[in-house]
Amino acid sequence: MTIQPTNDIAELFEQRCIEPSCSATYSIGERIYVCPRCGGLLDIEANDSYAPAADTLKSLWLNRKTSLAVSDISGVWRFRELLPFSAKIIPVSLREGNTPLYEAPRSAAYCAINSLKLKHQGANPTGSFKDTGMTVAVTQAVKLGARLVACASTGNTAASLAAYAARANLACAIMVPTGQISHAKLAQALDYGAKVLEIEGNFDSCMREIRILSDDGSLYLVNSINPFRIEGQKTVAFELAEQLNWQVPDHLVVPGGNLGNSSALGKGFRELLALRLIDHMPRISVVQAIGAAPFASYFNEDRSATFQDEVNPKTLASAIKIGAPVSWKKALRAVDETGGKVLTVTEQEIANAKAIIGRDGVGCEPASATTVAGIRKLHADGFIKSDETVVALLTGNVLKDTDYVNKYHSDNLVAEGVGAISGSYRNPPIKVAGGRDELRDVLTQLSN
Ligand SMILES: [Zn+2]
Repeated sequence: MTIQPTNDIAELFEQRCIEPSCSATYSIGERIYVCPRCGGLLDIEANDSYAPAADTLKSLWLNRKTSLAVSDISGVWRFRELLPFSAKIIPVSLREGNTPLYEAPRSAAYCAINSLKLKHQGANPTGSFKDTGMTVAVTQAVKLGARLVACASTGNTAASLAAYAARANLACAIMVPTGQISHAKLAQALDYGAKVLEIEGNFDSCMREIRILSDDGSLYLVNSINPFRIEGQKTVAFELAEQLNWQVPDHLVVPGGNLGNSSALGKGFRELLALRLIDHMPRISVVQAIGAAPFASYFNEDRSATFQDEVNPKTLASAIKIGAPVSWKKALRAVDETGGKVLTVTEQEIANAKAIIGRDGVGCEPASATTVAGIRKLHADGFIKSDETVVALLTGNVLKDTDYVNKYHSDNLVAEGVGAISGSYRNPPIKVAGGRDELRDVLTQLSN
């Protein structure tokens, strides 16, 4: 049984330029990625006549989990009262969302706080947080009649788009920097049938090229500059609030790469607050790798200066190896309005935090571990108190980058511009040369 909302809401939404000096609005059916008038980023917003029955939403969303319909089971589409689509839309879905929120006692102890929860977006169908946004962006691509969908990617977006394009039977082109994305992510995109175009340069040069190529309308661009991606990703805020019985945490800490995540979470919590489904927003803080930290530099230095891209970003956390984050203005809004911080962590801090998260039985990719490394610093600085409620958002599954994991545990990890990373919490394989007696000796030692 599909539980339907009471009316068709799609026409009540519009695309709105976020620049205060512009605020131009456009129909949600217009195939644009930025404001045609001023080049500003776009938000999708409901107009003033939209008034969902807020007091019924919590039970409606929860009850959908017992339905058998895909649009109810999806952890994105079950929140569709706040998505800019007709109730009749058939979503391109892989049953994304509904990801676990784990208690992580070892990680909490590492950060010297009483408790820490990990919201693991790596539990999505293609193993990363990108799926919650991609289901919405590809559904919009189908609605617009697009034939070719495309993105630039550090790997996770590629894997996600490739899967959703395959489900929608759309042609898919992915632009990646040669030799700079993990083998696992590349393998995913190939298996899902996407055409992978490897180009010289880095993610930022891929992004620049594909934005120019999308201008003539020949392809539909689904990077997070596309506001429909953010619409899907904002549902993570709804789901997290629901998992905490609508008591928002004091702190929500996310990795910072292209900055779509922090933007989307800010938007999601802002919408819940406007509907009075929560009574305040969590402090949203963003953690960047120190070699790829243009947002942290801007946030903590001279705000009156122009935003400076990092021309040559460096980090082993390839998912956030981005020097020109397209969503920085939206992310800035989310951090500022919630009183959060933006900080950096070193390659060594990321590697150690990743190993600690693993000891909680939760595997993540390196970029995700910036959160735990960052929380440890934010507690040491006094910004996070030991007894506050803290959630770290993990963005990708541990199998996204196994080369990194194996090198860390064999004490063989080397970062560009940094040198050797110590496997401080390494857990290398044990070579057992002899027979059963030697094996028994090893096992006996393990049980003592
Ligand atoms: Zn504008």
